[in-house]
Amino acid sequence: MNFELTEEHEAIRRTAREFAARSVAPIAAEIDKHARFPKELVDEMGELGLLGIEVEPEWDGAGLDPLAYVIAMEEISAACASTGVIMSVNNSLVCDPLRKWANDAQKDKWLRPLATGEKLGCFMLSEPEAGSDAAAQTTVATPSGDGFVINGVKNWITNGPQADVGILMCMTDREKGHRGISSFIIDMNAEGVTRGPKDDKLGIRASHSCQIFFTDHQVSGEQLLGKVGDGFKVAMSTLDCGRIGIAAQALGIARGAFEAATRYATERKTFGKAIANHQAISFMIADMATEIDAARLLTYRAASLKAAGKRHTTESAMAKLMASEVANKVAKNAVQIFGGNGYVTEYPAERYYRDAKITEIYEGTSEIQRVVIASNIIRGLA
Ligand SMILES: Cc1cc2nc3c(=O)[nH]c(=O)nc-3n(C[C@H](O)[C@H](O)[C@H](O)COP(=O)(O)OP(=O)(O)OC[C@H]3O[C@@H](n4cnc5c(N)ncnc54)[C@H](O)[C@@H]3O)c2cc1C
Repeated sequence: MNFELTEEHEAIRRTAREFAARSVAPIAAEIDKHARFPKELVDEMGELGLLGIEVEPEWDGAGLDPLAYVIAMEEISAACASTGVIMSVNNSLVCDPLRKWANDAQKDKWLRPLATGEKLGCFMLSEPEAGSDAAAQTTVATPSGDGFVINGVKNWITNGPQADVGILMCMTDREKGHRGISSFIIDMNAEGVTRGPKDDKLGIRASHSCQIFFTDHQVSGEQLLGKVGDGFKVAMSTLDCGRIGIAAQALGIARGAFEAATRYATERKTFGKAIANHQAISFMIADMATEIDAARLLTYRAASLKAAGKRHTTESAMAKLMASEVANKVAKNAVQIFGGNGYVTEYPAERYYRDAKITEIYEGTSEIQRVVIASNIIRGLA
């Protein structure tokens, strides 16, 4: 086992860290406060190759490995978790399934502009009555001409208000249960696709999500991703990778909160000494640092397994479970270390605390990660 990062990994860390310091951190509080989508950051991420990190150069991506993606996600999320998730959805939930399931003509048409940031993507699995129980899809695609007509509603779609392209899961054969789900590539600006108002959220407020309505939306057969009936496999294999990205986002939130709290603890004095020198606070700092490192190692392991082309369902779920719970604990303790200043928007601790919560919910709640981990162990798959 080698814990050294390669020169390529160090280079992507430098690129992402410099971008985060130069462009993201200075506006993170403002875009959170006004729930403003940071279009200028998305454009800059496109120019830096951060929106198609693992996409092969042949399709205009950066051609880096999953560990490079994790490293960049941590750096950007440490500055702003909203910007982190905009990036994560485009990379993990849109470019990744296109890399894996699309044919060359589809890659040329849809993947190329997503990898450069010319277009932005979204992933449409959840519905008002189908979240954890993702197979309970009610959106339907009915054969029509050489394609299908789609009707239904999708819920909580991150990047939904801005997306040009979407990966959609819906039923093509209700009788077959999850084997009756298919996946389509959607032109989000086409007729029959409408967007609801953006959700008013607790955290990651600069990342926008909304409902998406499909009303007699016609797609051609060329928009089918994989074969009819492959949709659940497309969704689950995508989430296996997406969870690595959310683990990295959580890691970034935890590190951002930890660094802010540690800095504050060395500056703030009570009873004649820096609060970092009170044992209660110094032990919090020790626990935070240890737990962040443990979460990072699990996240790097999942990314390395993905890079090696090995099965990583359990390891991705473990990384996401651990990193999201660490992010919540660290952000909560960061607020505590800031005292009253932790409770006001003048300091960043409350934003990290609000942003951390979503990492325990989306791309499978912590309960669902435990279901995945336990069932794989019991079935002898882990
Ligand atoms: C801000 C935000 C952005 C999102 N972005 C996207 C997106 O881009 N695309 C997309 O498709 N979806 C997205 N989602 C949806 C998200 O993935 C779901 O909210 C999540 O999977 C949980 O589903 P649910 O909300 O329906 O909760 P439910 O499934 O109703 O769960 C409610 C509670 O019950 C628990 N529970 C449910 N089933 C079980 C079980 N079998 N065992 C134990 N506990 C259980 C859950 O863990 C949870 O605590 C987003 C959600 C939010 C809030």
